[in-house]
Amino acid sequence: QPLVTLRGIGKTYANGTVALEGVDLEIRGGEFLTLLGPSGCGKSTILRLIAGLDAASSGALTRAFDNVGAAIGFVFQEPTLMPWASAFDNVFLPLRLQGQSRRTAAPAVKEALGLVGLADFAEAYPRELSGGMRMRVSIARALVLRPLLLLMDEPFAALDEITRFRLNDDLLRLQGELGATIVFVTHSVYESAYLSTRIAVMAAKPGRIVAEIATQDAAPRD
Ligand code: ADP
Ligand code: ADP
Repeated sequence: QPLVTLRGIGKTYANGTVALEGVDLEIRGGEFLTLLGPSGCGKSTILRLIAGLDAASSGALTRAFDNVGAAIGFVFQEPTLMPWASAFDNVFLPLRLQGQSRRTAAPAVKEALGLVGLADFAEAYPRELSGGMRMRVSIARALVLRPLLLLMDEPFAALDEITRFRLNDDLLRLQGELGATIVFVTHSVYESAYLSTRIAVMAAKPGRIVAEIATQDAAPRD
């Protein structure tokens, strides 16, 4: 059973913009799916619908899990860290919002920072970290609740190419270690081919999926 199923999904924004039309898509456990397409084809809109941050105008979206907040981790293009808080406290935030104490949460926070290679930077503040490291902190924050599904909206687009290549490799390693299911939005053909097990190619006006390409076998998981 897919983790998320979209059937005939359409999205028209209040100003009349038709962002999506007739989108059919399944997200399967263990896969690394990229949504590839030009700016404005509705990639971010699809992620927001999956995460329940916005509602579709037509069609049906079903999820194989209940608690969307705990089951989905979201990484945005900008790291969106709290500048006044250390890396530790930024990653602690989702656990704090669940009512956990700093002490109870510490092992999970440290583990998440370790997964992204920042075990030694727990006490560093965002301004003390490079762009790549700040993105790693955001990824750790998205992983700390051990989500079933990680949604990443052009996470590396603002980084220089070298940092981006490193993070691509780290993300692949991380997915292997965690067995995570990832939906990754990009307009980079390179990134989609390098990272994913499946590519959904999109076109704009109206936003729609024009092709699906299986690129590698996903590790089967249930
Ligand atoms: P992508 O992520 O592929 O760049 P988006 O999902 O951000 O595409 O946007 C798809 C289309 O919907 C674009 O034409 C965009 O301008 C429009 N759009 C996105 N968000 C809104 C909004 N809140 N209100 C009106 N139009 C929007
Ligand atoms: P990456 O994106 O792979 O972390 P960066 O280009 O961001 O690469 O940084 C390269 C390396 O330099 C980092 O992995 C880290 O070891 C070190 N580094 C960068 N910024 C700092 C900093 N503010 N303090 C200490 N070490 C740093």
